[in-house]
Amino acid sequence: MLQEQEAHAAEMERTFIAIKPDGVQRALISEIISRFERKGFKLVAIKIVIPSKGFAEKHYHDLKERPFFNGLCDFLSSGPVLAMVWEGEGVIKYGRKLIGATDPQKSEPGTIRGDLAVVVGRNIIHGSDGPETAKDEINLWFKPEELVSYTSNTEKWVYGDN
Ligand code: UDP
Ligand code: MG
Repeated sequence: MLQEQEAHAAEMERTFIAIKPDGVQRALISEIISRFERKGFKLVAIKIVIPSKGFAEKHYHDLKERPFFNGLCDFLSSGPVLAMVWEGEGVIKYGRKLIGATDPQKSEPGTIRGDLAVVVGRNIIHGSDGPETAKDEINLWFKPEELVSYTSNTEKWVYGDN
């Protein structure tokens, strides 16, 4: 039992998820949160912010050579962004599955972008693409004390306890 609990804890991951200004303005916050929440993932940090252009450039620094970089950073800093950290087994990779392909024309129906967005420049949501970016993005957007560690009552039902 103890071993299984330890194994469960070892598999816990955190990822950074953000609803971009288009998702916030289109009133999709509750729709998007509910998809992560119903899956069984746990919300451990959340805030609404308008990032500066410089902050957006830091967030997207990997893309600075791309032609759409400037417009993308202008857009991210154009209005409120809902920044979140979600926790769970496999949440980094599965979070990307819930989100769907970058281009909503190629996202499967049933995914967030597939169901709720049409064009790549307004694809409503961001999710970390791997363990290293997840760590970097969580550190960029949140102070350590903004992350809340707690046991959810649903955990024993989501993961089992024996
Ligand atoms: N993007 C864009 N045009 C492109 C590719 C990407 O405007 O041709 C935007 C889009 O909003 C995307 C973001 O840049 O979500 C970051 O690109 P990335 O390749 O990291 O996609 P993501 O990880 O968001 O699926
Ligand atoms: Mg990306």
